[in-house]
Amino acid sequence: MLSIEGVTVSFGAQRAVDDVDLRLDDGHVLAVLGPSGSGKSSLLRAVAGLEPLRAGRVSWDGHDLAGTPTHQRGFALMFQDGQLFDHLTVAGNVGYALRLRGLGRAAARSRVGELLELVGLAGYGDRLPRTLSGGERQRVALARSLAAEPRLLLLDEPLSALDAELRVRLAADLRQILRESGTTALLVTHDQEEAFAVADRLAVMRAGAVVQQGTTEEVWAAPVDAATALFLGYSRVLTGAAAAVVLAAAGLPPADAVAVRRSALTAGGSGGLLASVVAVRATPDEVRLVVDVDGVGEADAVGAPGWLPAPGDAVELRVDAARLAVLTPGASP
Ligand code: ADP
Ligand code: MG
Repeated sequence: MLSIEGVTVSFGAQRAVDDVDLRLDDGHVLAVLGPSGSGKSSLLRAVAGLEPLRAGRVSWDGHDLAGTPTHQRGFALMFQDGQLFDHLTVAGNVGYALRLRGLGRAAARSRVGELLELVGLAGYGDRLPRTLSGGERQRVALARSLAAEPRLLLLDEPLSALDAELRVRLAADLRQILRESGTTALLVTHDQEEAFAVADRLAVMRAGAVVQQGTTEEVWAAPVDAATALFLGYSRVLTGAAAAVVLAAAGLPPADAVAVRRSALTAGGSGGLLASVVAVRATPDEVRLVVDVDGVGEADAVGAPGWLPAPGDAVELRVDAARLAVLTPGASP
């Protein structure tokens, strides 16, 4: 079990990581989610032993790792760009750690085969990295990391270099692969979809500090403050009278602030809030609207695909309570 207690990493006067506490149980996948520059890589490097701690402690099963150098921690690191050995074949890359560990030729070959199968690249052993797509390269990098049988896998934005569609697919595969291999993993990413798709627990990081942690569902359903809600993909945070109107329409009691997902407001039916259309954008899955809602002001909404209202049209909005998050004032650190 990984335990991070009061960890601070400084660069000169700047605290890149500021008094962070995190715990990661065996077999779980924790995503640290935060915008660029929030200290994610510094935290990961501190866990790996690549960055000195200004304060705090990183331990494994209660044993302080302060005196344990990186290569003796039993952790593997995987980065955005895989960093494959370009002159080695796929099998050579994946088998690298096995040879270092002195595994025999036959045993290594069979283990490489298993790992390539696990990451969906059976039969790719003889290919050279430059003949692979970005997604395939990351799969090889993952197989190579897993070959070392790390007790902890550290992943720094592993899918960020891939295009959006591939990222979503590979995120689901990554979750499956980590589960199947029983790997304990700490993932850092700025991409909330990647975090949700891969991890079972989330920690939200901002300006070096962890501002919220919990299961992905808990964090998603109840962001700790407005900035976190917006970062998690809620489209607006409404306050005061606007919040009251939307909450009432959802059948919820009043509150000071509510975060609203775009999909919380569905236009095109009848009944509900009255609004006029400000802007319309069609996507293959839905129509995305900006609407001016009576008593609320501007908000985002969706409509069924193929239905194309024009700016200025009057529409009615249904509110889905499950896609709102009431924000509790004072809950933020
Ligand atoms: P993230 O991975 O979330 O984008 P980083 O951990 O890379 O964030 O960086 C956090 C902050 O620490 C940034 O302001 C960055 O400029 C600073 N930082 C990171 N590494 C160094 C370094 N080696 N020297 C000086 N400042 C650094
Ligand atoms: Mg980073």
